[in-house]
Amino acid sequence: MFGIINKEGDKMNLSDIKGLGNVGISHLKKLGIESPKDLIEFSPFRYDFIKRSNIYELKQDDKIIIDGVVENIPNIYFFNRKMDKMTFKINTGEKLLTVTIFNRRFLKDKIIIGRIITIIGKYDKEHNTIVANDIRFEKLGNSLKIEPVYHTTAGISNKKIENYINSIIDSNIEIKNNIPNYFINKYKFIDKKEAIKYLHKPLDLKVLNRCILELKYEELFLFMSKMYYLKTRKKKIDGIERKIDYSKLEEFINNLPFTLTTDQEKTINDIYEDMTSNKVMNRLVQGDVGSGKTIVAICTIYLNYLSGYQSAMMAPTEILAVQHYENIKKLFKDYNINIRLITGKTKTSEKKEICAGLEDGSINIVIGTHALISENVKYNNLGLVITDEQHRFGVNQRGTLKSKGINPDILYLSATPIPRTYALTLYGDMDVSSIKTMPNGRKNIETYVKTGKDIKDVLMMMYGQLREDHQIYVVAPLIEENENSNIENINDLYEKMQRAFGKKYNIGMLHGKLKNSEKEQIMDDFKNKKIHILVATTVVEVGVDVKNATMMVIFDAYRFGLSTLHQLRGRVGRNDLQSYCILVSDKETKRLNILEKTNDGFKISEEDFLLRGSGDLFGIRQSGDMLFKLSNLKNDYKLLLKVKDDVEEYFKLPESIDFQKDIEININLN
Ligand code: ADP
Ligand code: MG
Repeated sequence: MFGIINKEGDKMNLSDIKGLGNVGISHLKKLGIESPKDLIEFSPFRYDFIKRSNIYELKQDDKIIIDGVVENIPNIYFFNRKMDKMTFKINTGEKLLTVTIFNRRFLKDKIIIGRIITIIGKYDKEHNTIVANDIRFEKLGNSLKIEPVYHTTAGISNKKIENYINSIIDSNIEIKNNIPNYFINKYKFIDKKEAIKYLHKPLDLKVLNRCILELKYEELFLFMSKMYYLKTRKKKIDGIERKIDYSKLEEFINNLPFTLTTDQEKTINDIYEDMTSNKVMNRLVQGDVGSGKTIVAICTIYLNYLSGYQSAMMAPTEILAVQHYENIKKLFKDYNINIRLITGKTKTSEKKEICAGLEDGSINIVIGTHALISENVKYNNLGLVITDEQHRFGVNQRGTLKSKGINPDILYLSATPIPRTYALTLYGDMDVSSIKTMPNGRKNIETYVKTGKDIKDVLMMMYGQLREDHQIYVVAPLIEENENSNIENINDLYEKMQRAFGKKYNIGMLHGKLKNSEKEQIMDDFKNKKIHILVATTVVEVGVDVKNATMMVIFDAYRFGLSTLHQLRGRVGRNDLQSYCILVSDKETKRLNILEKTNDGFKISEEDFLLRGSGDLFGIRQSGDMLFKLSNLKNDYKLLLKVKDDVEEYFKLPESIDFQKDIEININLN
């Protein structure tokens, strides 16, 4: 369905492209291009618009596009074995100009005295020369030349990319349009190959925009079709129809040290409905940091346990897995439930034993990191899978775990309130419950943006908290010493904290390079107030819960996205103590001011989205789920909504059967 097939029906490879050898192929790989399909979909990141020039208005090194009559036979010079340079003169009617062009001696026969040609290049006014990068022999459509500009890397120029792409487009390949005929006719879309061609060799702006729109439409159509397919399929799949004694859960909830918020209750209700229905659960619980998602997850695990099934819970980091494990153990200490922890660091012998327990069903609940799916873990009767901070797992990883049970119910927890566009795409195939109310007594976290010059203020504020017997997180972006940048690194920061507070207070340091046991020790010490200031990288970002910590100081805050900063800030303010967040930054303070103004994660993510676009928000990029080649969720939101409607309309038509089958095959291939 999605490859490029030549007329003989064979799949085309990069090595089939003229002039592209192994070296070139390895260069392309660096740009993420691994197939001819990738190559033609490698769209220009911008276009240069070059006006047909009036030679007298041009300055040195201006881009030029100009017609002229060839005045003489070209001279060709060779240097080293591979390079050549060709020069000749043209008469523009106003001026005689020298044209220089490199490595294009094969054009020599076309440069005939008296022929009108168009030269595109750079004007070297001083030498009355055009250094050309293209010569056109056909008449250009209008007075504007639109030049594609690609991302490049060492060893591969814009021109090379253009040439490779042209050689694909000019060959007799077929490029299948994945938009159903129904919409091709409805919107009068042009042939896909034409659209691709004009994407790379635009004739005029109108056609270009039309082609980009069509290609984006196709991209989004395929994506939304997959989402829609998954969503409807899930609704059809039989799940476990449980009989659960709800009063047992009520009893458990009544014994908690706090009362659940309304939204927590509502979410647990949604989940109960899902679990007792005969359809499989596929639910996302979305709630700001500290809104209390963990207890919802634990109630879900208990419901699942009551109905006689095993639960697996995955966390994105070891620290968090351990924390969940301890939490759950504590809450179930009076219950006869077998709970185990499995991570990448678990000893082989213990792992074996846990695996055996999961396989024979004697273990009821397993908590872990990726190891839960990367290992060869078999389950006896897995009924529930929970993933915390789910956007950190790729679709494939989720799929692997799912496939380990017989249609287990799935619950995702996410502390990242996301803009509507993202919700639609990233979570398009899920049901969503939101926890909007924060547990009672939670105060807003007072947030201040400070510059490096205010460091004394910052230290004073820290001291104020320490004197109250509260604890502090200090976060820095990097661990490696980097001489070339001013980035405060964590060692450095640790030293600074030692100098400022080391006499009276204990300072700990936490980063990704420490051994697991060391990390745990440090976290334990922090929890038990043996450490007062914890200097850390973003390992503390997700989920870590120390109630007595009331201040978060983040250095070089500009290096983080607003959502990440908001997540970090959520590490404090975990009970009714007034908490503070200080963002130290000499740059981009305006962006950071948004955090001073609001504690509402949803608003923050919208602002971040508007400011930074689909960039590296929320680590979504990392998960690879959201990589559109052409479309951009921020700018193409309206189109996305349109496509969503079209997909829903189309899937109801009988003629969409084959298309749906293709989508199914494609999903299973990935
Ligand atoms: P998150 O949603 O960020 O995962 P947690 O589940 O870690 O948040 O909860 C944050 C803290 O709030 C925990 O210490 C938890 O015990 C506490 N908590 C959760 N729900 C309530 C509640 N209804 N009332 C009071 N405290 C709560
Ligand atoms: Mg959490």
